[in-house]
Amino acid sequence: MRPELSDYAHLSGGKVREIYQVDSDTLLMMATDRISAFDYSLEPEIPDKGRILTATSTFFFDLLGRELGMPNHLAGPVEDERIPEEVLGRAHVVRKLEMIPFECVARGYLTGSGKKEYDATGRVCAVPLPQGLVEASKLPEPIFTPATKAEQGDHDENVSFSHVSNKLGAELAEKLRDATLAVYTTAAAYAQSRGIILADTKLEFGLDDNGELVLADEVLTPDSSRYWPADSYEEGRVQPSFDKQYVRNWLTGPKSGWDPSSGMQPPELPGSVVEATRDRYIEAYERLSGEKFSHWPGANA
Ligand code: ATP
Ligand code: MG
Repeated sequence: MRPELSDYAHLSGGKVREIYQVDSDTLLMMATDRISAFDYSLEPEIPDKGRILTATSTFFFDLLGRELGMPNHLAGPVEDERIPEEVLGRAHVVRKLEMIPFECVARGYLTGSGKKEYDATGRVCAVPLPQGLVEASKLPEPIFTPATKAEQGDHDENVSFSHVSNKLGAELAEKLRDATLAVYTTAAAYAQSRGIILADTKLEFGLDDNGELVLADEVLTPDSSRYWPADSYEEGRVQPSFDKQYVRNWLTGPKSGWDPSSGMQPPELPGSVVEATRDRYIEAYERLSGEKFSHWPGANA
């Protein structure tokens, strides 16, 4: 008999995920169908999104384990008997870690906040870059661009490697940078083989009881990464993409009537945008993993 979700104490809720306590060193991380952009929770939800993200993360935790020997926080399979039926397919049981208070970002291409910073300073997170780069330019090599983990409602802020090094010590900071770049390089090469560019990705790490660095949170999902179809890639413009860039583009486009700097809650997403976003998430998962989403536990596809 599987437990009920109400058997577990609810520890916290983020914009997208809910965390429950399984026992003193194990958590249940549950991905809802909520979607956020520009640090706002949007309405309505994207049906199946939590399961698609969980499927994608599961696939990449496994790939990174095989290819890099990268330790991760999973404490059991996606069908683990500690996972309640009602959230099957959208939850993982994970080891509770001491989380490192930085978002570990790797970028292979210039876009988003990286592009903004580059335009203002010629650098990203204090990493100097060549002159003349434009939207979506490929960088000479992937760079580590850490950010602070903002409290809910605040924006993450890019910081330099030396800032991380001062806070955490040089040894841990270097380990984080090396692990982040290794994950990016491995995943980007893999994605390329499936016709997809991994433009950038955001990772979170924690330390286990032995002080070992462990990959946590979600990995290489369209929420934490920018994926672009390789065949339509063109430097100098905002790329069509598999991730929530689609939603961001709609929100900032002429049809939404919304201004991200207005401080106002974004408008409700039209049904067509919800449908198209769901299709993009599924397509990203299926193209990257080679699996059918309809085979995933609990999938309604
Ligand atoms: P958002 O992602 O919307 O900016 P958030 O990161 O606070 O907000 P979620 O992503 O919904 O919220 O929740 C995940 C939380 O769980 C994060 O704070 C993350 O650092 C934490 N976390 C992830 N993996 C583990 C783990 N193995 N042990 C402890 N905490 C973890
Ligand atoms: Mg998060």
